[in-house]
Amino acid sequence: MASSRPLRIVIIGAGIGGLTAAQALHRAGFEVSLHERAAELGEVGAGLQLGPNAFKVFRALDLFDVVRAASFEPTTRVTLNWNDASERNRVPLRGVDMARYGAPFMTAHRADLHRALRTGLPESIIHLGATCTGVANTAQGAVVHFSDGSSVEADLVIGADGLRSIIRETLFGADAPRFTNSMCWRCIVPIELLPRRMGPGKTVAVDQTDHVSFYGPEGQVICYPLGDGSTLNIFAGHYSNDWVEESWTLPSSPEELLQAYAGWADELLGMLRHVQHCFKWGICDREPRSVWTKGNITLLGDAAHPTMPNLAQGANMAVEDGIVLARALRQHGADVSAALAQYVAERQPRTRDITLKSRENFERTRQWPPAPPIDRSWIYAFDASQPMQAGLTGTAA
Ligand SMILES: Cc1cc2nc3c(=O)[nH]c(=O)nc-3n(C[C@H](O)[C@H](O)[C@H](O)COP(=O)(O)OP(=O)(O)OC[C@H]3O[C@@H](n4cnc5c(N)ncnc54)[C@H](O)[C@@H]3O)c2cc1C
Repeated sequence: MASSRPLRIVIIGAGIGGLTAAQALHRAGFEVSLHERAAELGEVGAGLQLGPNAFKVFRALDLFDVVRAASFEPTTRVTLNWNDASERNRVPLRGVDMARYGAPFMTAHRADLHRALRTGLPESIIHLGATCTGVANTAQGAVVHFSDGSSVEADLVIGADGLRSIIRETLFGADAPRFTNSMCWRCIVPIELLPRRMGPGKTVAVDQTDHVSFYGPEGQVICYPLGDGSTLNIFAGHYSNDWVEESWTLPSSPEELLQAYAGWADELLGMLRHVQHCFKWGICDREPRSVWTKGNITLLGDAAHPTMPNLAQGANMAVEDGIVLARALRQHGADVSAALAQYVAERQPRTRDITLKSRENFERTRQWPPAPPIDRSWIYAFDASQPMQAGLTGTAA
């Protein structure tokens, strides 16, 4: 175990969680190396929603301005009916969460966020083409093995290797994802395709800066602008009894997408007809884990707490994890076990609640007409950069 030298920390996986953890740990003075199986750093072509809770972490890591510059702040959330695009409701967004929670709600292309999160990280700590094949605790700490036969020793290993984490499987065995009978398509189209007038008699005004959702008995389609506002991200969720794999890279076809939304509003179909490339994703669920750590190896992000996307919090939680882990390690010096115990004690209750509430939110919107969505104020008000206060875990009441 390290005493006077900084702890040597190996992170497996340079996704949103791994990069944020690397930022937090590097800034806290630890010796960090980040190992990613991809040959080039990057992200899939899809958007994501970032809550005020993630922006508070970015602020604490001096990344607020760079992430905000790469993101878009929608003006209004407009919800429409699936078949005729008539208006269900309309809620102002821009400036609201900044006033309410001290940080904005924004949307970003994953690749832009990924690039922003690399700001200031020394290139020398990032190792690409490094596929982890296994990990083990040792008398001194832990050792990680890679597919090229090499290995690296560390005082602490963090598995930030996503949904199909090899680290989680090595520590705790293979898990059994439960297909939720729902899936989604992901695609991006030019913003000009979003009609400015919708609904019966074209009476529903929609701005191209808006966050627009179509709600129907067979699914939901959520559309929001990305980055500089020139593109529109489409998340097309659909209930389906046909099993679909959980994967970022499962190609689909525009024809398959259009077929799934036959009978939906022309305003939506008009956009979907312009989709050139799309991917599909089976939405799975898992029970929250209570144990994330074995010896000097722990988990972070989707590897620790995979969630349904129904509160748009998977990446937000991964961002929170990194700063809490860095704080716990700083507080406990060379005592890695005490730091990991504190990290899991802080993170497990909140991530469990968000995972279970995401499931509940899915069930609410699955009914027709949908039940009101769950309140997110307890998610957005939380500031992971601040030490946990007695009696306040930031979890649902
Ligand atoms: C359709 C959809 C929409 C979503 N929308 C949102 C949203 O709006 N907001 C939100 O917060 N979340 C959203 N999420 C969830 C979010 O995408 C994930 O929670 C987030 O990407 C998790 O980050 P991560 O770093 O833990 O894992 P990942 O992003 O999966 O990163 C894991 C990294 O580890 C690498 N890796 C894997 N195995 C190995 C190995 N053996 N060796 C080395 N490297 C390895 C991978 O290449 C990857 O770079 C959405 C998810 C889906 C499916």
